[in-house]
Amino acid sequence: MRKPLVEIKNLKKYYPIKKGLLKRTVNHVKAVDGLDFSIYKGETLGLVGESGCGKSTTGRTILQLLKPTDGEVLYEGQNLVRMPGRELRKLRKDLQMVFQDPYASLDPRLTVGQIIAEPMEIHRLYSGKEKDKRVEELLEVVGLNSYHAKRFPHEFSGGQRQRIGIARALALEPKLIVADEPVSALDVSIQSQVINLLQDLQGKFGLTYLFIAHDLSVVKHISDRVGVMYLGRLVELADKDNLYAEPLHPYTKALLSAVPIPDPLAKRERIVLQGDVPSPANPPAGCAFHPRCSECMEICRKQRPAWKEINGHYVACHLYN
Ligand code: SF4
Repeated sequence: MRKPLVEIKNLKKYYPIKKGLLKRTVNHVKAVDGLDFSIYKGETLGLVGESGCGKSTTGRTILQLLKPTDGEVLYEGQNLVRMPGRELRKLRKDLQMVFQDPYASLDPRLTVGQIIAEPMEIHRLYSGKEKDKRVEELLEVVGLNSYHAKRFPHEFSGGQRQRIGIARALALEPKLIVADEPVSALDVSIQSQVINLLQDLQGKFGLTYLFIAHDLSVVKHISDRVGVMYLGRLVELADKDNLYAEPLHPYTKALLSAVPIPDPLAKRERIVLQGDVPSPANPPAGCAFHPRCSECMEICRKQRPAWKEINGHYVACHLYN
């Protein structure tokens, strides 16, 4: 049986909405509203959904960059949510993040060598010549050259800057990397190079990825399993092949219908989603997707669908009652 590296239980992240002179809390934005799933050692779990569905907040909350409102994040059996600061700081080297915008996430005043060395200095892992050697190794591992260490981030292209971000994330020999839209800011031609690099590194270092993206075409190549989020909740989770061949949830079907097919003769009917994602401060009653769902039934407006397993494929939808 596969061993989970991370188990997420009833994870919630709410932001209070305050009003009036006394700044009283009148409501909450439920960015993440009760997630349960595991990430297995060595796998890539893709997490997709439209902008504002809570997937980036999920990644940051798992890494404890944002404090969860409720729930548990068990990393190798240890609950990160309740862990004292000092112990959490020690574990941080195992849990790294690659950000969407490689330019904004790299300090423009530091050289690339300093940027990659910084986490090693904070965690006192290497020093002196050993540290310089490690920086050179990391640059080579991500497809750059050792002489790039002396240059500044603005001297690099978007794809190269993302490689620098990946080298920095690898500096502490992590076990889990949360990659938050790591290729969304890059040209399509560069996207596949960065995805291939992430895959190579996974094979080389036995990494586990949570790969966050807003569309299903980006996660298809790299993921082993894919979870689909809508308004702070998972609506479907399955092995990649299952999910792409036989999506169950109407929202997944709509997202998939927008993915281009490489065969020019193949036809697929495009399902156009009506309206915008509702506000997570006032999610619709029942199934949160019901105002946009073409298969909506009476029960969908009143009762939230349960999370069900159908032959290893998980879905939350009344169509499968
Ligand atoms: Fe559509 Fe109902 Fe399923 Fe929600 S529960 S996705 S509204 S069919």
